This record gives sequence, structure tokens and C-alpha cells, in this order.
Amino acid sequence: MEDNNIVVIYGSDAFNNTYKILQSLNIAKDIKSCSRIGIKPNLVVSQKSELGATTDPEIVRAIVQYLQDNNHKNIVILEGSWVGDNTKRAFEVCGYNAIAKSYGVEILDLKGDKSITKEVGNLNLAICNEMTKIDYLINVPVLKGHCQTRMTCALKNLKGCIPDSEKRRYHTLGIHKPVAYLNTLIKTNLVIVDGIYGDLDFEEGGTPLNMNRIIACKDAVMVDSYVCELMGIDIADVEYITLSEMLNVGSTKYNKQNIIELNGNEKLELPQRKNDIIKFDNVVEKDSCSACYASLVHALTRSNKKNIKEKICIGQAFKNQKIDDAIGIGKCCNQFSTYVKGCPPTARDIIEFLDDYK
Ligand code: SF4
Repeated sequence: MEDNNIVVIYGSDAFNNTYKILQSLNIAKDIKSCSRIGIKPNLVVSQKSELGATTDPEIVRAIVQYLQDNNHKNIVILEGSWVGDNTKRAFEVCGYNAIAKSYGVEILDLKGDKSITKEVGNLNLAICNEMTKIDYLINVPVLKGHCQTRMTCALKNLKGCIPDSEKRRYHTLGIHKPVAYLNTLIKTNLVIVDGIYGDLDFEEGGTPLNMNRIIACKDAVMVDSYVCELMGIDIADVEYITLSEMLNVGSTKYNKQNIIELNGNEKLELPQRKNDIIKFDNVVEKDSCSACYASLVHALTRSNKKNIKEKICIGQAFKNQKIDDAIGIGKCCNQFSTYVKGCPPTARDIIEFLDDYK
């Protein structure tokens, strides 16, 4: 396969279609013998893939099967769930422990790993040590919308490869810039996008959509650009994609000839997204972590709390601020006279708090 090809296979058979796409790309020839191969799914939360947030384990099982069939044995599955969730629970709930056991591959919770800090651009960014030992990285994100960055796919999936403290800090740095620079520190060699079930609106799932496809590409910038097109998002509106291109992580430029559909007759068109960046007139958001903001969005959009009029503040910029005329969300707002405990609080915590408010 050329590096600038995007290969798509339609259908819901995650195992066989992943195996076919890997065979058609002849990926095995790209990997040197004895390489340590990392497989990085998206297990942002402990939910089964059918709910739209996490990578279908059958895709990862097919990747492992394909690699072992081609005599690649040094394989590790690595992930660190988002702030507030437990990767080990996600491995179990999402079916990854069973894969690791039956195929005899390593599985690592990156939340338990030490980190190494590297200077890049004018930033110091910490990445998990284990990522420095990987020779060939297969990035296996889910095609999803995101309430802060519009979309998330391959480039942002690497946020699971940094310590939790860094995940929080990225939001104080505006999220886009550190995500782009992170992709200069950790190189993705191949992206396999889970487009079986995704969620066009929410990173944490809950409104799953059967999109019936798997997408492969060697260029993380290009595949994210293609996914933007599928979702009806202008690439220029997702700053970490254009910045990654400027940093030579990959290219946003492709044309129809670059898109190879292995079975185009089974194609399904995607519906339009309902949400763009989600904002509320009464919410003041400054540097909030994704998990925290997602809980608030969930509480305000999926409950009967839509019509709350009180001012609500959320984010790390509110640390140590004494505020009496607003509701604070999360531990960062613990100097407010009224705030929801937790770091992050769950959507249920926020809904219950708002139920009891007044
Ligand atoms: S309270 Fe929310 S915004 Fe503050 S650090 Fe915790 S998760 Fe992040």
C-alpha cells in the first residue's frame, strides 16, 4: 500500500474484515522481525464497544491473529483510560483480558507506568515509558465526535499514552497544541479505525451509531482528515489536525484516487451529526478535563436539567477561586460556596446535585 492510501472495508464482521484489510495491505512486510509491536485501542471508559466509545475487541483480536500468523510474537496491548476511569476494569469489561490470555500477549495499563519528559517545540511533555520501547505502533481508535474538539480519532487517541497528570495539564495548554506535539514524540505506523460502532456526538459514547466500516491508513493526519470529511467537519476547525500537518506528522491532502474501497457496494452513508462543540449559555468552561466536561454535557443534554439557568463554572482555571454566585463542578471548584464534589464528578453526581439544588 502507498503511504497516502486510505483503505475502507464495509460490513459488521469486525474480525474477518480487519484480517482482510491487513492482508490486502500486506502489513507484515513493513514490520521487522523481533519488533516490539504496540496495539493501542481506545478504552477511554469501561463500556462495551456496542455503546460507541471503545474499540471493538474483535478488531484487536484479528490484528493479534494476523501478526502471530506472520510470525510476529512480541506484541503488547497498551492503554490508559481517561481521568477518573480504571483501565484494568476497561480491559476486563471490554474483553481485552480474554484476548491477552488466549493469545499469550502482554497487556499493560499505562496508568501504572513511569514516564519520561521530552522537550518539543517550547513544551515539556511527559509520555509513558513503555511507549519508548515500541518499534511499530498500531493505533486503533474509534470514529467519534467530541464535545470540546469536534472529533476524535487517531491523533487524539495517543492521549491514552501519557500520565493522568498530563491529561489534565493538556487542557490548561489548550489541548490542540500538546496533542499535535505528542504525535511528534510517539509515531503511529498504522491506523485501523473502528467504524463498526462509534458515536458522532460524544467521546464517552451512549448514542452509538452502526457505521459498518473499518478504515486503515499509515498516516494519522490523513485518516483524521478523511474522518472529518465523513462527519461533515471542516479540517480547519480541528486545530490539532492542521498543526500536526505543520509539524510533519502527516498530510491532510488526499483525493478520490487515494481512497480504496475493498467492497464499495456495501457502503452506508453516515447521517449528519447533531452536535458541534457543545456550549451552554450559562456554563463558563476554562481548562476543563474531557471527562469532567463530558459529565456536565451529559447531565445537561441527556437529562431534564436542560433548563437550569444558574451560572455553572467548570475547569482547572477555577482552582482556589472563592465564588458565591455560581455552581462549581468538580474538585477544582472546591472554594466555591456551592460545588459538586469529584475529580471528575460523574454525570449522575451532577444530576443528583442539581436535583437537590435550592
Ligand atoms: S475537577 Fe474536573 S477539571 Fe478539575 S482536575 Fe478534576 S477532572 Fe479536571
